[in-house]
Amino acid sequence: MPLSLRYTAHSEIGLVRKNNQDSAYVSPSMLMVADGMGGAAAGDLASAVTVRELKAVDHPASGEEMLTTLGRAVERAGAAMNEMIDADPTLAGMGSTACGVMFDGEHFALLNIGDSRAYRLREGDLTRLTHDHSWVQALVDQGRITEEEALEHPHRSLILKVINGQPEHTPDLQLADIRLGDRLLICSDGLCGLVTDEAIAAHLDGDPQAVLVELVELAHEAGGSDNITVIVADVVAAEPTGQTRLLGAAERIDPDSLENTAEVPILLTSPPPPTAATKEALRYRPVTRRRPLTWLKVVLAVLVPLALIGAGGTTWYLYTQQQHYLGTAGEFVAIYQGIPEPVFNLPLSKVVSVSAVRTVDLPRYYADRVQATIPVGSLDAAHEMLATLQVKADQCIAQRNPPLPPTPPTTSPPTTPGATPNPSVTPQTTPAPPTTPGADEDLEC
Ligand code: MG
Repeated sequence: MPLSLRYTAHSEIGLVRKNNQDSAYVSPSMLMVADGMGGAAAGDLASAVTVRELKAVDHPASGEEMLTTLGRAVERAGAAMNEMIDADPTLAGMGSTACGVMFDGEHFALLNIGDSRAYRLREGDLTRLTHDHSWVQALVDQGRITEEEALEHPHRSLILKVINGQPEHTPDLQLADIRLGDRLLICSDGLCGLVTDEAIAAHLDGDPQAVLVELVELAHEAGGSDNITVIVADVVAAEPTGQTRLLGAAERIDPDSLENTAEVPILLTSPPPPTAATKEALRYRPVTRRRPLTWLKVVLAVLVPLALIGAGGTTWYLYTQQQHYLGTAGEFVAIYQGIPEPVFNLPLSKVVSVSAVRTVDLPRYYADRVQATIPVGSLDAAHEMLATLQVKADQCIAQRNPPLPPTPPTTSPPTTPGATPNPSVTPQTTPAPPTTPGADEDLEC
């Protein structure tokens, strides 16, 4: 006995929205959900066109051929949307998800683009067969939010891929195995975007029609804020008996009559007033806030003060580096370039040269001045002051170490007649007069 699908499906507006932009298509060999977007009429049209193209390729195929077939249908749906937008630019932005399976009796060919989902219940375990192309799914994948947080995220409506004619928006296509007894759930985000997988799994057992009702009730209990489309299908060992049906927007807008796009303006001539759905879309759409003169505020508040501080600081730093002073370097007197006081713990001086003059050799007055640093106007002035300090140090050294008196001769008299001891041969420094301040107490050593 061949395997076949026994299915039931439902599509509705939900509890908040004013129209149903979801579409669905079911047949013994294909189960598809499409969730349209792009405005009230454009969303209807997008999902209806998507379903039309999928329905158009619902012919016997098997294995990999089914994947090729589905990929071609997606391309044709995108191309059809582009043609419609060219004919009526007000349709720009239209697009549709597509999620579902094609069935050859042995395999599922799984199609997904957007955030509608396909699940498989096998022996009590629920497995998500598709991966959402959505912003919140990306955040979940990165571990930044949980699946539960994704349901409440303000940007949960942002979808990264849809059928919209853009070549980079490619669908996921893969073959999936199939077993007798498997149960498939295919739904739009009116269910899976509001209800956790755990809650869905808890209501998937039992009669398919009863399960369908329970799942829709779950979506209602969660707010019913979006269109709700659900397909429940069992893999059974029986001859195919299911009916071919269109649901949702595709049922209301006959996809086969859309070849003449002249009908499209009829759908758009009277745009409905903003609905809760469109208000929601507007609320969550990406918004670029205009902030006039923001750049000017930045310049005035930050850049100008920084520039002034920078210019003033540079000028001041250059000035400091033209200054010199005398200070200590260890036990010696040194000439410094700059100013002795650091700013923010940053030194603003460097040693130019270290002299041989020791501070301990200086008169107390000069020693104290050197310890406190002696500012001078220039490097030449620094050398002049250092020369003065050298003199003072020499005087102190001379005072502390007076010359010994001449030793009287104790042996033979001078061999040179008339020769007498000459005190001048003994090294002796004649104290130089102090240059500043000149008071005797300043020379205290
Ligand atoms: Mg939706």
